[in-house]
Amino acid sequence: MNFEMEYRRLGKSGLKVSVFSFGSWVTFSNQLNEKAATELMEYAYDNGINFFDNAEIYANGNSEIIMGKILKKTGWSRDTYILSSKVFWGGEKPTQIGLSRKHITDGCHAALKRLQVEYIDLFFCHRPDPETPIEETVRAMDVLIQQGKVLYWGTSEWEAEQITEAYEIAEKFNLTPPTMEQPEYNLFNRGKIEKDYLPLYKKYGLGTTIWSPLASGLLTGKYNHGIPSNSRAYVKGYEWLKEQFESEETIQKIGKVKELQPIAERLEISLTQLALGYCLKNPNVSTIILGASKKEQLKENLGTLSIMDKITDSTIKDINKVLDK
Ligand code: NDP
Repeated sequence: MNFEMEYRRLGKSGLKVSVFSFGSWVTFSNQLNEKAATELMEYAYDNGINFFDNAEIYANGNSEIIMGKILKKTGWSRDTYILSSKVFWGGEKPTQIGLSRKHITDGCHAALKRLQVEYIDLFFCHRPDPETPIEETVRAMDVLIQQGKVLYWGTSEWEAEQITEAYEIAEKFNLTPPTMEQPEYNLFNRGKIEKDYLPLYKKYGLGTTIWSPLASGLLTGKYNHGIPSNSRAYVKGYEWLKEQFESEETIQKIGKVKELQPIAERLEISLTQLALGYCLKNPNVSTIILGASKKEQLKENLGTLSIMDKITDSTIKDINKVLDK
């Protein structure tokens, strides 16, 4: 497969991130042991991916431990890749949850240890915390940045108003503002990226690292005739995902997936590539975080780069016609 990785600026920052990146949610430690995860990370890196996404909650820290070991083992130069972690759910105790100065600080230190690195490139607030003033969070992130433990900080699934408040606080007190947000973005979930955040790209140069571009695999079409037994729906601890796949809402989504299929067939591309191509076409997306439990999946997904000439404005119109019906 012939493709060239594209690199985009993370918002208005100077950081160049590959348009496809690789995340470890569900997969690392649950579906992939260290050896299998190594194979996928090496494939990703060799094909131009320079950003690896992680979080303290993924496999309760084991995902970061595995990624840290792989980074040590491969010996990739630290200045050739971007690494993230996310803080919010660090444990059961009251001090281990949320975005207090304490948990942000403890969460960062623990992630550095698990990942075996001296700094984290992108550090995300994994969710908004209604019980911590945004000013406390902005100040805590600013300190980590001043200490050199974090390079850029951002949010995940914050409302536009909350992100705006963070920018305003940073401006008022001369603190480091957020650089990026990590929202869900796929054909079934477009509101934040395509509507809510529009003023933020313009006013603040917000970058975005989007998640679940295939809606956990639904947009590949492989759930059209039932739940495959080797899918993430059957991973221990993710029973809620199986329930979600069986819900009325998902059945309706599968109806749409079936209607999208002829568009992909006409273009002679896979449904997966149609779904990823749609996200890639949006210039407000800095990077699409891919998930994969097999190398073939990663291969197919990265192949989207080679079919982008088929994702024309008229293709987008055809997709919207199906989704907006
Ligand atoms: P996707 O929606 O792309 O789902 C990925 C899964 O779909 C794979 O693990 C695999 O599952 C299946 N799949 C992928 N490609 C193919 C293919 N070509 N053919 C068939 N099946 C395929 O992304 P994720 O939900 O994994 O999210 C990506 C990343 O985003 C995460 O790893 C994480 O880093 C981040 N994330 C962040 C969140 C946040 O709150 N900030 C929340 C969720 C994710 P299977 O094993 O079933 O085949």
